[in-house]
Amino acid sequence: MLPKYGFPVDSVELRTSYSLAAHQVGARLELSRDLSQAIYEYAPDASIVAGGQQWTSRGLYRLPGRDLVEFRYLVCKECGGFRQALEEVDPRCPVCGIESDSAPRTLTVPEFGFVAARESQRPGARPPRRSWSGATHVLRESESAREHIIELGGGQLHTQFGPRARLVAIADGPGGMGFWVCKWCGYGAARMLHPKRLPAHDHLLRGSQCKGPADLLDLAHTYETDLLRIDVLPAHLVGTQSAHLSVLYAVLEAACNTLEISRDDIGGTLMPHSTGSWSFTFFDAVPGGAGHVLMVEKELPRILRAAYQRVSDCDCGDETSCYGCLRSYSNQRHHEELSRGVARAVLGQILGADIRERDPAAAPKLETAEERLIRSIVDLGAPPPVIGHESEQGLPIPLSWPDAKTAVAFDLDASEREELEQEGWSLLPPDPTEVAKAFRTQ
Ligand SMILES: [Zn+2]
Ligand SMILES: [Zn+2]
Ligand SMILES: [Zn+2]
Repeated sequence: MLPKYGFPVDSVELRTSYSLAAHQVGARLELSRDLSQAIYEYAPDASIVAGGQQWTSRGLYRLPGRDLVEFRYLVCKECGGFRQALEEVDPRCPVCGIESDSAPRTLTVPEFGFVAARESQRPGARPPRRSWSGATHVLRESESAREHIIELGGGQLHTQFGPRARLVAIADGPGGMGFWVCKWCGYGAARMLHPKRLPAHDHLLRGSQCKGPADLLDLAHTYETDLLRIDVLPAHLVGTQSAHLSVLYAVLEAACNTLEISRDDIGGTLMPHSTGSWSFTFFDAVPGGAGHVLMVEKELPRILRAAYQRVSDCDCGDETSCYGCLRSYSNQRHHEELSRGVARAVLGQILGADIRERDPAAAPKLETAEERLIRSIVDLGAPPPVIGHESEQGLPIPLSWPDAKTAVAFDLDASEREELEQEGWSLLPPDPTEVAKAFRTQ
């Protein structure tokens, strides 16, 4: 039996070893990811670039005689509350009491990993649009959380931090339409691309014709990690669910900048606890926790001020948001409802006197690593970089000069850097002197 908890099962492979003989590279590649990322990046019809080739996931790896576990689940349309069951899910939301008018969906945990299509492609031929649709829900809070009250100029924060909270991350496919997965061989397809049924297919591993029936599934990963829950008192300071989301992402982005944490390493979600009332939760994306959200709690007043600064300084429209303030790759489904102005108003109220008393001229400007880098680059005579430009494949690039197809290798992980290079971008090291030098010689 594979252990259900702990590190080993939390990482899975995208198997490229079934690729055609022409691509010997497939046999040598070893692609693995944490399951909470893999459910998005290795999902059927998702593509990645590796070993100079573009690989498209073709399905879920199934072990003979081992069925994938399936759960039925519902997410409340009203409050976002999550509930699951092996068979029948209660149509009534236990949090707000609203009856669901849609049928439960089915999730599975692809614990044996994924299989890439036999044919790989040259990257860039048809760049895949990256789509990240899904959400993370808190299944169970920490049993040994400790509590703090933090006094701020306009209100109080009640924080609870603890280890081993249980979360579920769900990828519900492009357009939120789920995936068809063959019950026999694991061959899969995004339903958005094949609305009616799973296309006729050959057996995922053997290549002979397969006539297996298909399930409509979402992909999920449940794991334990450190959880920080924050309640604003008085609660009405925040307001609607959209206001909560706007504040959540302002704080999340500010926390990453202030503490110099990669945005992939922490996540946030709202936890409903009665009608019209939500807690903010932040968690370490690494199973088991990595100490990040503990630091978030310790530095909370500073992070909130940085969040306020972030949503005050951005120059997108007040009622919208952009990659410079609230948007990120992983919160795409909420982009339309995120409002920078709302986040600023709420954060301003909570911080209250903390902001008003500060003399803007005397106060040291909170400068993030990114801001410091931009300032040094410009000081050394290079043109100011564009923040958050999107690559052809939809990857937001923190700092770049799109006209010169040049970017700084800042806040980009290895696969993102490889993807940009495949697209023809030149990457400069995140060193202002090197950047300035590159622009002098151009
Ligand atoms: Zn509800
Ligand atoms: Zn099949
Ligand atoms: Zn903005």
